Amino acid sequence: MRVVVTGGAGFIGSAVVRYLVERTEAEVANVDKLTYAGNQESLASAADSSRYHFYKVDICDAVALDRVFAEFQPTHVMHLAAESHVDRSIDGPAAFIETNIIGTYTLLEAARRYWGNLPEAAREAFRFHHVSTDEVYGDLEGTDDLFLETTPYAPSSPYSASKASSDHLVRAWLRTYGFPTLLTNCSNNYGPYHFPEKLIPHVILNALSGEPLPVYGDGNQIRDWLYVEDHAHALVEVATRGEVGETYNIGGHNEKRNLEVVQVICDLLEELAPNKPEGVQHYRELITFVKDRPGHDVRYAIDASKIERELGWVPQESFETGIRKTVQWYLDNRDWWGRVLSGEYQLGRLGQES
Ligand code: NAD
Repeated sequence: MRVVVTGGAGFIGSAVVRYLVERTEAEVANVDKLTYAGNQESLASAADSSRYHFYKVDICDAVALDRVFAEFQPTHVMHLAAESHVDRSIDGPAAFIETNIIGTYTLLEAARRYWGNLPEAAREAFRFHHVSTDEVYGDLEGTDDLFLETTPYAPSSPYSASKASSDHLVRAWLRTYGFPTLLTNCSNNYGPYHFPEKLIPHVILNALSGEPLPVYGDGNQIRDWLYVEDHAHALVEVATRGEVGETYNIGGHNEKRNLEVVQVICDLLEELAPNKPEGVQHYRELITFVKDRPGHDVRYAIDASKIERELGWVPQESFETGIRKTVQWYLDNRDWWGRVLSGEYQLGRLGQES
């Protein structure tokens, strides 16, 4: 197995690269532009392997992608590269349109050119796995409703609209060209190596420095949380054993209100980091309600029964075990996030650049 992972220096992509290098025999090519979200220091454990290769390439660059395909000769593509932060998409949607839509189109075309010239057996075995989000489905109204693979698309933010567009492109390439694609839509991820602008790491790090813990609106928005290593495992199962043309929803059965997530983190820190910053009696007193995000979806929740039934995947972590591991990881890895906060992570380079 020779796997191109796009966005392999990001939060989920790095978990996929670590999984492939540590738990399979695959050769792995990480194709990443290294935007602010790309951090090669998240790949320290994989970078020493002779099976890990790194290409600093923008997925909008067709010529560079042709070179990667010709040189690396992949059997699988796992496409995770994206602009992924909803707030950034509201402030500046252009990069989301560029990478998530044009980039996916450019990658699909490069992969299709390569695939079209493969010998028949290799063409039959080739897979293109597009990694997407449950945010393409928009809001859930009823409290018992769940997102199914057949739920109509209704994206709310520039981010989710750009991901929905990329999903449509992938389906069209399957239908029109017979290009062997698979698609997954996953709920919110959390865990080690999460960039500090996202809710869970932001709250942990702000609490440790005695800063306010911002909660949008009334904090009643519900998300279905999945531990990132469970997601990485699910993605590898789909890429290698999934049925061509199928979509699989991936979720953790862990619906939590945002306020509850912040409170759980505060309570874990009381236990795991009892030496609080000066002037702080209880971490919970740092919780601060701020003006809601425009277009904020109220509830997401995934029905993951198809991947469980067809591929036998189930998450290993509950929210309670995963959030405890995550808080402990941030306490144990101050170097990693310290270098992110100071910007030093963008100066370092790990592994061979091909
Ligand atoms: P991330 O922002 O942490 O990482 C994105 C990576 O893509 C970075 O390494 C970045 O350098 C790279 N990248 C960005 N633009 C690129 C370009 N033009 N060319 C090459 N590389 C580029 O994102 P993430 O949270 O790891 O998400 C990965 C994928 O999973 C995304 O497609 C996202 O939509 C999807 N997803 C994320 C979540 C979540 O909770 N984070 C949930 C479901 C699905």
